[in-house]
Amino acid sequence: MQPYYTAAILGGLFLLLFVWEHRAPLRTARAALARRLFVNVGISALALGIAALIVEPVGASALQQVSDRGFGLLHWVDLPAAAQFVVGFVLMDIAFYYWHVANHRIPLLWRLHNVHHIDPDLDVSTAFRFHLGEVALSAGFRVVQIAVIGVSPLTFAIYELVFQANTLFHHSNVHLPLRVERLLNKILVTPRMHGIHHSEVWRENNSNYSVVFPWWDRLHRTLRLNIPQSRIVIGIPGYAAGPDNRLGNALLLPFLRQRNYWRRADGTAAERSSTDIGSPSSCMEE
Ligand SMILES: [Zn+2]
Repeated sequence: MQPYYTAAILGGLFLLLFVWEHRAPLRTARAALARRLFVNVGISALALGIAALIVEPVGASALQQVSDRGFGLLHWVDLPAAAQFVVGFVLMDIAFYYWHVANHRIPLLWRLHNVHHIDPDLDVSTAFRFHLGEVALSAGFRVVQIAVIGVSPLTFAIYELVFQANTLFHHSNVHLPLRVERLLNKILVTPRMHGIHHSEVWRENNSNYSVVFPWWDRLHRTLRLNIPQSRIVIGIPGYAAGPDNRLGNALLLPFLRQRNYWRRADGTAAERSSTDIGSPSSCMEE
């Protein structure tokens, strides 16, 4: 697929979700939209710039080398073309699950990934709001991912498009009928599922890491669906003050002394009482 078509599809999807989430929002916004958009567009522009300058060329070169040398799992195992595509696609996705977990568990990576999480609301404008340092470091992960899997350039391109499209979708604040979302969530990470990942409660932030397929969270017991969206406060308690989400402050944040992420300015921890939690974890809540 040509980058031109990819950009057109993703741009169209962005606009669709943007209009939709303002007509039928899932969660009520806390912060002023214009101010957030300014910050999110700024951080995303730098992220996309670094992706174009570093991550894409590095990825393209890795894809070339892997196919020239016949390196990686998919080159070592003899599979029909269709199976090679399916296995490649699924392995790409589980690799991103591990990369996302690493971004939360490794302190240096979390300093950077935290910038994505301190957005006080969650909508489609949050989708590409990643610190440029996180994006630059992801180039290293890309090389390992491509080399270990031995993914073909075509599978990679198709996965990449689905990955970006679902990243837009699951960050969006669109209100889908619960029945529809429960069904969709059998095969895709959806807005309610990812909304729980952006909760200010540590336990909830440390769940729902999947990007495209939700199965990896179920497999690793990091799935959490029983939190009603109306009870979720989006953000990171230690970085919830208004100035924390200014463009300059957010970009500098990883390089400054880190606060206790999970305590509010008044020292209290963000916790959830059991009365706020819905029915069994297999069931997604309104
Ligand atoms: Zn995260």
